[in-house]
Amino acid sequence: MCKRFVAGSNGKCKFAEEENNGVPGHINSLKLWWRRTLVPKYLHAASMNLNDLYSKALAFEFLSVEEGMHLYEHAPLTELMYVANELRKVQVPHGKVTWQIDRNVNTTNVCIANCKFCNFFRVPGHAEAYITDIETYKKKIEETIRWGGDQLLLQGGHHPELGLEFYTTLFKQLKALYPTIKLHTLGPPEVAHITKLEKSLPGSKTGTHHEVLKALKEAGMDSLPGAGAEILIDRVRRLISKGKCGAQEWLDIMHEAHKLNITTSATMMFGHAETLRERFEHLEKIREVQSRKPEHAKGFLAFIPWTFQDVDTLLAKIRGVHNLTTAEEYVRMIALSRIMLPNVKNIQASWLTVGKQTAQLCLHAGANDFGSIMLEENVVSAAGAPHRFTYKSIQEAIKEAGFEPQLRNQQYEWRALPEVIEEQVVDY
Ligand code: SF4
Repeated sequence: MCKRFVAGSNGKCKFAEEENNGVPGHINSLKLWWRRTLVPKYLHAASMNLNDLYSKALAFEFLSVEEGMHLYEHAPLTELMYVANELRKVQVPHGKVTWQIDRNVNTTNVCIANCKFCNFFRVPGHAEAYITDIETYKKKIEETIRWGGDQLLLQGGHHPELGLEFYTTLFKQLKALYPTIKLHTLGPPEVAHITKLEKSLPGSKTGTHHEVLKALKEAGMDSLPGAGAEILIDRVRRLISKGKCGAQEWLDIMHEAHKLNITTSATMMFGHAETLRERFEHLEKIREVQSRKPEHAKGFLAFIPWTFQDVDTLLAKIRGVHNLTTAEEYVRMIALSRIMLPNVKNIQASWLTVGKQTAQLCLHAGANDFGSIMLEENVVSAAGAPHRFTYKSIQEAIKEAGFEPQLRNQQYEWRALPEVIEEQVVDY
C-alpha cells in the first residue's frame, strides 16, 4: 500500500474518491506533476535544438552538415515539410509549379567512363555503338517542336575520339538549322573529358575548362546541366563512377561556367554507396560554389536530387547495392535540399525516379518545380525508371497536388503553351 494512503469512505483511498479512474489522487498528482514538469523539460530539451534549427533555416542562414543531418534524423517529417514550404513561399512567391517540355537526345552511347550504375553506354567498337547523325537530329527536333518543346538536353558518353571540334561543329549546325531551339548540353564530366582530349592534341591551344566552355558557349551551348554530380565525394566516385572527373573538378567547371554567365543546375544521385554525411557534404559544396558565383551570373538555377535506379546495373549485380530509398526519405531529402540551399532558388522533384505521388508530396515539402516531361530519356530509364508524363498528364498531376502549373524554359522564364501542340503517344 502506498505510504500516502489516506482512508476515505468504503475503505478506499480518499484521494481516489476525488480523482478519476479510481487511482489514488496523489498518484494522479504525481502523474500530473510528471506531465507538467518532467515531460515538457525533456521534450523541450529535445525540441529546443530542433526549434533553433528551424529558426536558423527560416532566417535563410546556412546550416552546417551536422545540423542538416540532425534534422534529417530527428525532425518530424511534417515539421520539416512545413519549414521547407515556408522557405519556398519566400523564394518562389508566385506559388505556381513550373514544368518544361524538352527532349533528352544522346550524341553518342560510346563511353569509356564505365559508371557502375549505367546501362546506357557501350564500349568503343561495340555492335550497338552509335554517334547520332544529322538526319536523326532533324527528325527528333521537328518532333520536339510539334510536341511543344523548345530545347534539347543534349548529352552522351565520354567518346574517346570526340573532342571540342566535334561538339562546336554540331552545335553550330543545329543552331543554323533550328535557331530557336535551346541547347541544354553536356555536363561537367563531359567538359572535363573534352578538356583532357584537347590537352592531349599535339599543338593544341585549348587546354583549360574556361577555354573549352567559352568555345562551347560561342558555338551554341545555352546552358550546362548539373549532370554527373552523383555524390561529390571522391570516396563515393571511386566506387561508382571512377572514370568520371573528380568532385573538385566538377565544382571547378561549374564555377568557370558561372564566371562565363552560363546558366547551370546541380543534381545529386543518392541512395547507393554514400553515407548520410556525404549527402550533406555534397549539399554544402553546391552551396559554397553558388556563394562564389559572380553577382551578374544566375549560377545554379535549380537543384535536383534523384534516387539511384538499380535495375540490371553493375552496382546491383556485383556489389548488391539496391535502391532502398523510401518515399518518406525522398521527401525528407527534398525538404532538406530547400533548407540547406537557401541560395538556390528552385528545387525540383524527380518524378522520373520516384513517381507521381511522391513527387506531388514534394510540392508541399519545398519543391517548386516538376522539371521536364522528357519527350525522350534513355539513360535513367535504362536503369529502371518507369514513369512518364505527357504535356497533359503533368499538368493534371500538378493540379491534383493543389497547384497551378506553369510552363517554363531553362532560364525559368514562363512560356505560353504553344497554340498548336500534339500530345506525344507515350510508349511505356
Ligand atoms: S553515366 Fe555517362 S559517363 Fe557514366 S558510363 Fe554512362 S554514359 Fe558514360
